[in-house]
Amino acid sequence: MPLFGAHMSIAGGYFKSLVAAQEHDCQAVQLFTKNNNQWAGKTLSGEDIRLFRHNWQESNLQVSLAHDSYLINLASPDETLWQRSLEAFVIEMERAKALGLDYLVMHPGAAVDGDEKAGLIRVARALDKVYLRCPKYHVKILLETTAGQGTSLGHRFEHLAEIINLSKNPESLGICLDTCHVFAAGYPLAPVKEYRATMKAFDQIIGLDRLLAFHVNDSKKTFGSRVDRHAHIGQGCLGLEPFRLLVNDRKFRKHPMILETPKENDMDTVNLKTLQDLVGNTRNL
Ligand SMILES: [Zn+2]
Ligand SMILES: [Zn+2]
Repeated sequence: MPLFGAHMSIAGGYFKSLVAAQEHDCQAVQLFTKNNNQWAGKTLSGEDIRLFRHNWQESNLQVSLAHDSYLINLASPDETLWQRSLEAFVIEMERAKALGLDYLVMHPGAAVDGDEKAGLIRVARALDKVYLRCPKYHVKILLETTAGQGTSLGHRFEHLAEIINLSKNPESLGICLDTCHVFAAGYPLAPVKEYRATMKAFDQIIGLDRLLAFHVNDSKKTFGSRVDRHAHIGQGCLGLEPFRLLVNDRKFRKHPMILETPKENDMDTVNLKTLQDLVGNTRNL
């Protein structure tokens, strides 16, 4: 079975994300290591780290992901903003390392001047600098597939392949595939023939060995809309079938699959159950 989990809040302490994940019988967890809409974060205290690591040790959780701040734009053509983003990203890496997290998921960024190629080069250049400043960190960076809103990069598999190819340390980079985003970006995930075609394209362009994690979200917006709005599993434009195909795909049976769906009415419990119930439903596969 894949390692199911959800993005959990750190309100009240970093360790609270682990407590919430365990309450939901998760095997994986994702968290922000700082407020995701602010540049400056409260310093991580020794006590924060101790509590988090202690709770991790005591838990049955198997994999942990951080998600970077939405303000960071390593593709920015504005030198000041690019530099600021780089500094903020290094701090995210340091925090993930201090907490002992496995992955740091990042959005590649936006080429706000419309020059995609230059934007991809800037992302790779920034990641080269991150690598030099965070030597031998065990935290692996995962580039996330995006919906392609506005000038956002990462909505074509070619964008992510290009960043990896331009990087001086390609082995330090992996991919997190978000089901809502790729669908909105125009990659079909069902029926099975289309699902397989999308995975084959991913393999040929990036390589499935780089695909290390999933964000499992349904989409409020239609196929190819390039708009990023998450829906509960089975209640959006994807429906259940893509998730049935994904959770039963033997290639991904030990991969983390993280919910980033709205939290109201403890819908995490419902969404996790929906995913779990699809495991083993291999009719016509
Ligand atoms: Zn996501
Ligand atoms: Zn999203």
